[in-house]
Amino acid sequence: MAKVAFLGLGVMGYPMARHLKEKGHEVTVYNRTRAKADKWVSEHGGRAAGTPREAAQGQEIVFACVGNDDDLRQVTLGPDGAFEGMSAGSIFVDHTTASAEVARELYAAARDKGFAFIDAPVSGGQAGAENGVLTVMCGGDAEVYAKAEPVIMSFARASRLLGPAGSGQLTKMINQICIAGLVQGLAEGIHFGKKAGLDIEAVLEVISKGAAGSWQMENRGQTMNQGKFDFGFAVDWMRKDLSIVLDEARKNGASLPVTAIVDQFYAEVQKMGGKRWDTSSLIARLDK
Ligand code: NAP
Repeated sequence: MAKVAFLGLGVMGYPMARHLKEKGHEVTVYNRTRAKADKWVSEHGGRAAGTPREAAQGQEIVFACVGNDDDLRQVTLGPDGAFEGMSAGSIFVDHTTASAEVARELYAAARDKGFAFIDAPVSGGQAGAENGVLTVMCGGDAEVYAKAEPVIMSFARASRLLGPAGSGQLTKMINQICIAGLVQGLAEGIHFGKKAGLDIEAVLEVISKGAAGSWQMENRGQTMNQGKFDFGFAVDWMRKDLSIVLDEARKNGASLPVTAIVDQFYAEVQKMGGKRWDTSSLIARLDK
């Protein structure tokens, strides 16, 4: 069993930290809004720290799951940042969806201070975090990853090292590129079916068994048809992720015409009041 800390008890971090505790690890938590950390400790035991630096002291592994690049820099760098408290030989595992650039920057900063950094964004959403079945996409050094993997598996169904620092974030970008185009295609199919006067429920039931079937069709098709968009990953978060994707594509020269247009469609959904709707709400701008 390991001595660990978890920084950022949001929708994802709160249940991820719980799984670590339930697997028997010794868990210290830190959250910017202290009340959430105190609530976590009252429910699960362990200890709450006042700063990321204090949380990181004496730990073998420090996990983080905060919002974006800037938030990640705030919890890691600076006098109260976790990097000031990390022990030599320890590992910082970052589950934030962030840029590959910040992953490489923090990997280098960690190496200079004598500890290791793994970028490890997740997919599987709130339900995946609550049920401990996330997919974790990692970048970093193989020997470090081998030590962290059994602890990561406390809240994951699958975890894999995909290459050097930044590779986890790049893989998460591919995940989001694949989702963006697919959800738009699904939205257009359902929208077309409605205009054609078909029974969408029956249509989805039958075509989901064939080549058009997908996780999104299975899990979101019927609710998209009903105009229900309350299933987790918010449009605001997706736009943050797509902006990271499009920035990276500008750097590596990838051509992402569908992803770029879907990002604009999500901007329209935001204007319709859908900032907190889930990503399947792309259909709302077609059906309006
Ligand atoms: P969330 O509920 O908004 O939680 C964000 C957490 O980060 C909170 O604990 C927040 O603290 C903390 N935080 C934010 N900025 C901070 C800062 N500058 N300094 C210190 N702490 C800060 O977000 P979430 O849904 O858990 O998502 C976290 C990450 O996972 C994001 O990168 C997101 O893209 C990714 N992700 C989310 C999902 C999903 O379905 N939600 C799925 C896959 C990946 P406070 O409590 O003080 O605000």
